[in-house]
Amino acid sequence: MIDSPVICTVDLDKPGRQTGRLQLPRSDNQSGWANTYIPIACIANGSGPTALVMGGNHGDEYEGQVAALNLFRGLQPSEVNGRVIVVPCLSAPASRAGTRLWPSGANFNRSFPGDPGGLPHQQLADFLTRRLFPLADIVIDMHSGGRSALFLPCSHMHVVDDPAQRRAMLGGMLAWNSDFHFLYIDIAGTGLLPVEAEQQGKVVVTTELGGGGSVPARVHRLAGRGLANVLRHFGVVAGDVETRASMGLPDAVILDGRDPACYIPAPESGLFETMVDPGDPVVAGQPVGRIHFIERPDRRPETVVSAQDGVTAAVRAISNTSQGDVVVVVGSPIPGENLG
Ligand code: CA
Repeated sequence: MIDSPVICTVDLDKPGRQTGRLQLPRSDNQSGWANTYIPIACIANGSGPTALVMGGNHGDEYEGQVAALNLFRGLQPSEVNGRVIVVPCLSAPASRAGTRLWPSGANFNRSFPGDPGGLPHQQLADFLTRRLFPLADIVIDMHSGGRSALFLPCSHMHVVDDPAQRRAMLGGMLAWNSDFHFLYIDIAGTGLLPVEAEQQGKVVVTTELGGGGSVPARVHRLAGRGLANVLRHFGVVAGDVETRASMGLPDAVILDGRDPACYIPAPESGLFETMVDPGDPVVAGQPVGRIHFIERPDRRPETVVSAQDGVTAAVRAISNTSQGDVVVVVGSPIPGENLG
């Protein structure tokens, strides 16, 4: 196996609480000899499963970064049966810049399986693929809509082929206890972190915790409470598992987004006016948004319609829109039993 250039300062085999960093070699105009630090923490005790908890795969998705930091600070080894490895912010340079992509232009969630001889983001992806994922039973990758999209705050999943893996992932998704869940497909490229972890057979739990460039307090609470409950659900952290019923809430709604028609693109460039909000029901043929043209006050806006019945799962959060940008995402409610 080719050595990774990434140095991990934490001994992941050691019990107890540790914090340290992953060091990626960096050499740029500001500093010829340098490293980029990606903080990592580990809490280990006993022989239970390992959960790998990650935020900040995309830099401007702060919900998971905050939840991961809160989780680590509040967690003691005595509460852990197994190991919790926390990487609060995978794309630290992008988080600092307030952007989805790294300042280099790299999209970390299109970088897998990575390359030990590649650019820094590819070296980090390779370290996850070959060093961290093999240690993990459960891989938690927390996303949100970031600046560009406003999602129904939810946990979500790929519907993987393996029945046992799929059932375990369904259980983890539901344990987040969000009002909605979403079944997604990859409509914008390959090389995703969750796909690499799924291909290694891991139980992958992912989220879309809101977005739109701000994080309301209720979304921070959902992120923190959901993450803690998922770790209890898998037995990595001690404590009673909460359910929607135990919280006095009705069953969650699972939205099926596996039809490419769920992802409605802008037919032209212009200013997007959404006509629906996340959670709003829609019917086939219903106008869900309009594209306006600032250079053509005389021109009627172009109407965007939904191809199907369902519930609005996400809307574009930046008005300025290019042709082909997804502006509305619709999902169809389905019973969870259909996924068993
Ligand atoms: Ca994301």
